[in-house]
Amino acid sequence: MKCKAVHNNLIFFLEKELPDSEMKEVREHLNSCPDCALFAEEMKKTFGILEVEKAVEVNPFFYTRVKARLENQEQEQVVGRPLLVRVLQPVTFSILLVLAVYGGIKMGQPYHSATGNDGLNEMQMIPYLNEMDAEPIEAFLME
Ligand SMILES: [Zn+2]
Repeated sequence: MKCKAVHNNLIFFLEKELPDSEMKEVREHLNSCPDCALFAEEMKKTFGILEVEKAVEVNPFFYTRVKARLENQEQEQVVGRPLLVRVLQPVTFSILLVLAVYGGIKMGQPYHSATGNDGLNEMQMIPYLNEMDAEPIEAFLME
């Protein structure tokens, strides 16, 4: 087999797609012809790289990584949407806390404003005083 014929068949030889007889001819030629052997090596390397790239493309791990990345992006989008909620949640909580404290102060105010006021306010105070009496016991029980 001539060098040119070997070169033409080399790709098929490397892919092992030649008939057995031609496979044998090319192999024998490569063994005896350094130029073609070198050419075959170069081609094999190129094919090796192509094979690796092809393998990476269909690599399940690669697919998993791509999938994971896509899922991450989806997650980021999901996380991105309630970002306002995530920021607002502590703010809302703070507002509720302030309202609760303010409400507590307001609830306590009748007692404070009642002290030293006239009898009518003292009458209104009575339930609060009763609560005040009960409170230490409750506090004691809770501890
Ligand atoms: Zn040759």
